Amino acid sequence: MRRFLLWWGGLLAANFLFAQRECGSFDYQKQLIRTDPSLELTHKAIDNFIFRDETSRSQTIGRLEEEKIITIPVLVHILYHYPGENISDDQVRSQLSALNRDYRKLNSDTAKIPLAFKSLAADCEIEFKLATVDASGRATSGIIHKYTPITNWTLDDKIKFSSEMGDDAWDAKNYLNIWVGTLERLIGYSSLPGDPANKDGVVISNTVFGITNSGVYNQGRTAVHEVGHWLGLRHLWGDADCGDDGIADTPKQQTFTNGCPSTARISCNNGPNGDMYMDYMDFTNDDCLVMFTQGQKQKMRVLFESGGPRYSILSSYGLNKPAIEQIPLPDSPPQWLHIQIFPNPATSELTINLEYDERWIGKQLQVINVTGHVVLTKTISSKIQKIDVSTLQPGIYFIRGEKNGERMMQKFIKL
Ligand SMILES: [Zn+2]
Repeated sequence: MRRFLLWWGGLLAANFLFAQRECGSFDYQKQLIRTDPSLELTHKAIDNFIFRDETSRSQTIGRLEEEKIITIPVLVHILYHYPGENISDDQVRSQLSALNRDYRKLNSDTAKIPLAFKSLAADCEIEFKLATVDASGRATSGIIHKYTPITNWTLDDKIKFSSEMGDDAWDAKNYLNIWVGTLERLIGYSSLPGDPANKDGVVISNTVFGITNSGVYNQGRTAVHEVGHWLGLRHLWGDADCGDDGIADTPKQQTFTNGCPSTARISCNNGPNGDMYMDYMDFTNDDCLVMFTQGQKQKMRVLFESGGPRYSILSSYGLNKPAIEQIPLPDSPPQWLHIQIFPNPATSELTINLEYDERWIGKQLQVINVTGHVVLTKTISSKIQKIDVSTLQPGIYFIRGEKNGERMMQKFIKL
């Protein structure tokens, strides 16, 4: 049903300029649980930890002080295919500022909070800083820029794995990983506490990352929302009709909010104040999302108590002074399989599929034999390129190419 809604939401957006924040976190969780049903028990155990009673909480060693500022080291992985997707470090820093603005209630738009909800709005006392050091003590800017042959990403998490042409997470016990790329249909999704460590983190579309001043998701609040999920928060409507987000001070509401309402919206008998559509965990436009509640703050912060799933972040090495000052060189050219060739062995014609890396178009490929002699050359003119190999003697050959200093070589057999 939800997929259906999102699909029609997408069509409506195109037809009527009617946008909907397409957060994939709920669908993502369903997908993770399908793969590993035991995750439900893990989430339940974490919920029990979060909502344990005051008596058992007060017995916790290392209980978080009320006023303690939690600082989270952040590593941003920017995966780009086209140069325009390689967003700048300044843009990344604007996202960090937006996170700090909203999690510290420093946003100037709190005036938009209705009177009835004003006393609930919280300074969550959570801050975000770009990581300064990697696991081996080397300096880092906290931002990785990496070219990928992939042109868009889905909920399948490939963006989180170097083996899938994405980029591996840094240790989730020490960093909040944020991946930024071109997403198909979505503007973001997040893992929940307790999800597998190598998938732990937040994925955000490069179109809404940082303060962009264009469109309706222009204030960096997609990341504010998704990091809310990373900190255990659910959507206000509990992803069900009048469902429950588990937080006492957010009213029940029927479903998500589109656009930017100007009056109270009553649902699920929540009158007279109505839905809390200005809460970051709704789908309202960025301009109209302005608050977390005290209840949400408390739930997020409990995760950092001793025994909680984010406790390790408090002693992260991610913001330490580097032992090795030198920033590592950019990644060497990735060893991904940029092209596929078939059939292999070939008899008369070889097809080369370059659709994952269109930058090869216009470049020259060489076919060389085992003694290193060039026996054929071909300038690539399309994503699916055919090469006539009928005149070659039977044997082993290599297809070789070079673009922008990046080399590719693939073996094939001529029958
Ligand atoms: Zn969401």
